[in-house]
Amino acid sequence: MYDVIIIGGGPSGASAGIRAGKLGLKALLLEKDKFPRYKPCGGGLSEHAISYLDFELPQDLIEWEVTGAKVLFRDQSIKAHKDRRLSVLVSRDKFDDFLLEKAKETGIEVNTGEKALCCREMPDCIEVDTRQETYQAKFAIIAEGAHGLVKTCVRPADNREEYGICLVTEIPAEERELEERLGNTVELHFGVAGGGYGWIFPHKTYYSVGVGGVARDFLHPKKIMLEFLEKNDFSGEYKLHGHKIPLGGIKRKIVGSRVLLSGDAAGFIDAFSGEGLAYAIVSGQFAAEVIAGICLQGGNLKDLSKYESLCRAEFGTHLKYSLMFSRIMHRFPDRTFKVFTSSDKMIDKFLEVVDLTIDYKDYLRWCLLNFKLR
Ligand SMILES: Cc1cc2nc3c(=O)[nH]c(=O)nc-3n(C[C@H](O)[C@H](O)[C@H](O)COP(=O)(O)OP(=O)(O)OC[C@H]3O[C@@H](n4cnc5c(N)ncnc54)[C@H](O)[C@@H]3O)c2cc1C
Repeated sequence: MYDVIIIGGGPSGASAGIRAGKLGLKALLLEKDKFPRYKPCGGGLSEHAISYLDFELPQDLIEWEVTGAKVLFRDQSIKAHKDRRLSVLVSRDKFDDFLLEKAKETGIEVNTGEKALCCREMPDCIEVDTRQETYQAKFAIIAEGAHGLVKTCVRPADNREEYGICLVTEIPAEERELEERLGNTVELHFGVAGGGYGWIFPHKTYYSVGVGGVARDFLHPKKIMLEFLEKNDFSGEYKLHGHKIPLGGIKRKIVGSRVLLSGDAAGFIDAFSGEGLAYAIVSGQFAAEVIAGICLQGGNLKDLSKYESLCRAEFGTHLKYSLMFSRIMHRFPDRTFKVFTSSDKMIDKFLEVVDLTIDYKDYLRWCLLNFKLR
């Protein structure tokens, strides 16, 4: 009998594993893939996300440093910079592998190449079936990401209004070309995909290029991605990777009787920017802490609900307002993005949301005030 079984070894599951191991929980982490594995992602790791890591991010994982953004809407574009680093770019195969190794170092058991098939909540324990074994634990953390249906033991799968679809590819390039084209900025192209955007991010040896939008409004992702590539002078044959991305800010059930959902499985994504790594990491840590409180400090089952309060207090309002902001912007794109890309001040202020110096609620308030002043 384990204290906790963690399903999924991505950033959320690995962060739960690191915290569980450090706190002394008897934990088993199941990951269906052998690591390192490819994960479709832009690889943007914000300063806010880095602040949750309880260790130094190794320099060799940092492929690029970002201080600003170029935001485009149709024929308009605008650039803004800060005098500080806002985020770094990492390759997810390396970053995720590093985190999972950190989890192993704490002494927890990590089985890669072993997929959880289902998770059952029983009165006294949970049971997790894999093809090899049935495991028992007092609690489970489901960190299986956006795909996968183990989470349906707690909540129904998302419908097409509740998740987005992304297509991404990596395009090899020389460091000098990346430097000349992007410098320390990322490019965000609005008006490309329904309810989302296209991006071009610099990594050390490649561009990450992708498009993402709300599934309901983004009907021909492959066609749009090919047009986006062509329009931005990427003319080769590229392998495209598709992935779901939940829309954050929607109320979802994340606590069962003995199960907690974390990261993308819980829907913790900024609905406007698509950032999820920060919330994946911190929610995994919170999940492990709450379970440790029950198993090691004499707490009771009811304390499981503390997880929801912790997440709400840390980033609940921010994600709720990211959804509101996203819906306002995409409802009347011609009006809103025109204003967004016509004023340096708007983008400059938005960069403060990127590293969470201010949250979406403050940003929205600031925007309304500025609209009124116009
Ligand atoms: C195209 C794209 C671009 C993105 N770009 C960014 C970005 O630039 N910055 C950012 O902050 N966020 C970005 N995101 C969001 C970010 O990728 C996610 O928020 C983050 O990966 C969530 O981490 P996670 O651990 O919850 O899930 P995942 O990273 O999806 O990890 C889940 C893990 O669980 C494993 N698993 C699944 N099912 C099972 C099972 N049944 N049993 C065992 N293991 C299982 C999977 O193999 C996987 O390793 C992007 C998302 C997409 C789709």
